[in-house]
Amino acid sequence: MTHPTPARLLITNAHLLHPETAEVTDASWLEAADGRITAHGTGRPPAATEDVRVLDARGATVLPGLIDAHVHALLTSIDATEQRSWSAGYATVRALKEAERMLRRGFTTVRDVGGADHGMARALTEGLMPGPRLIHGGKALSQTGGHGDLRPLSEDGAPCCGHRPGFARIADGVDAVRAAPRDEFRKGAHHLKLLVSGGVASPHDEVSAVQYSDAEMAAAVEEATNHNRYVTVHAYHPRGINRALRAGVRCVEHGNLLDDETIQLLLQGDAFLVPTLVTYEQLATAGRRAGMSETSLRKVDDVREAGLGALEKAHRAGVNLVYGTDLLGPMHPHQLDEFTLRAQVQPPADLIRSATSTAARLLGMEGAIGTLAVGAHADLLVTDANPLDDISTLVTPRHLPNRVIKAGSPVT
Ligand code: ZN
Ligand code: ZN
Repeated sequence: MTHPTPARLLITNAHLLHPETAEVTDASWLEAADGRITAHGTGRPPAATEDVRVLDARGATVLPGLIDAHVHALLTSIDATEQRSWSAGYATVRALKEAERMLRRGFTTVRDVGGADHGMARALTEGLMPGPRLIHGGKALSQTGGHGDLRPLSEDGAPCCGHRPGFARIADGVDAVRAAPRDEFRKGAHHLKLLVSGGVASPHDEVSAVQYSDAEMAAAVEEATNHNRYVTVHAYHPRGINRALRAGVRCVEHGNLLDDETIQLLLQGDAFLVPTLVTYEQLATAGRRAGMSETSLRKVDDVREAGLGALEKAHRAGVNLVYGTDLLGPMHPHQLDEFTLRAQVQPPADLIRSATSTAARLLGMEGAIGTLAVGAHADLLVTDANPLDDISTLVTPRHLPNRVIKAGSPVT
């Protein structure tokens, strides 16, 4: 298939916000060609030739497009039982529609940590549908009875599900925990996700339960390292988190109940933490409406109360913090609300870095996304007001809707 030729783009009359330094330049311009940023400066913009699309920003702020490092594009329903009845094709179409909405919210890159596959990423790369860059990790690995084992108690027999449109596959024992990542990397997974503690939505585990043995975690880390990839773990409780960090994982998702040792291990390993506060806010209401069990709702309350304190502790200690949301199905419209929640303990410059430059570093895409540097993808967000003055402008624009530009082409 042929790719549409991206137009040259010249944005004039803008403030350029560089997340790395939180510097904002006045009366600036930015030029893009073939999907990349080719130049920017202040003062007089270069003369526009006929093939250049000129966008007068009228004093708006231009920053890199946002990165959400914890999504499940495929989980477009909160009801796992209902979802199990879907064909892979139907689930994928729904997922790509949600991906398009993510882009329109300002997320030009998303990291999928369970569910999305190489076909979805390819469809978006080829421009079959509008959507963000989709960095996928294939299916997360769960032990039997772990966070990714959603089989009802009535279901016996060998665990399955590698082929189903779910977010996880079951792998038990060191050999299986080597074979499954090899299979996911074969299919183009960008990272490996391991579920090492209980979860709130999984019916049969406790949040404080440790899943996977030290030997299994070490095997997963070795496989990822051998493939020049990294491991990220789903974990709430320090029992699981700290063991995983000692085994060499590079990233921790959620981390709501972390302790002082977690902070030390994160700093020592230059590891990343991706809190997902908004999902607990949403699960507390949407989960109840969707008929979530009382056990799950109690677990939601436990981690929800601790989440903000954990974030504050990590922020004060200087941990690498990355933006993530972990929303399911009808909760997705709240994807930007994570900014509002985190703003209680973090200043805007840090919040913006978490969704741009720091996220890019986690993804191994430093300099390519999350920056206005020359040579980076021209993934941009044009906001009416300066989000460094007030982060809420990203969530609810004052006057004009925020504009999204992906690879040099305006989307909204
Ligand atoms: Zn999780
Ligand atoms: Zn998740």
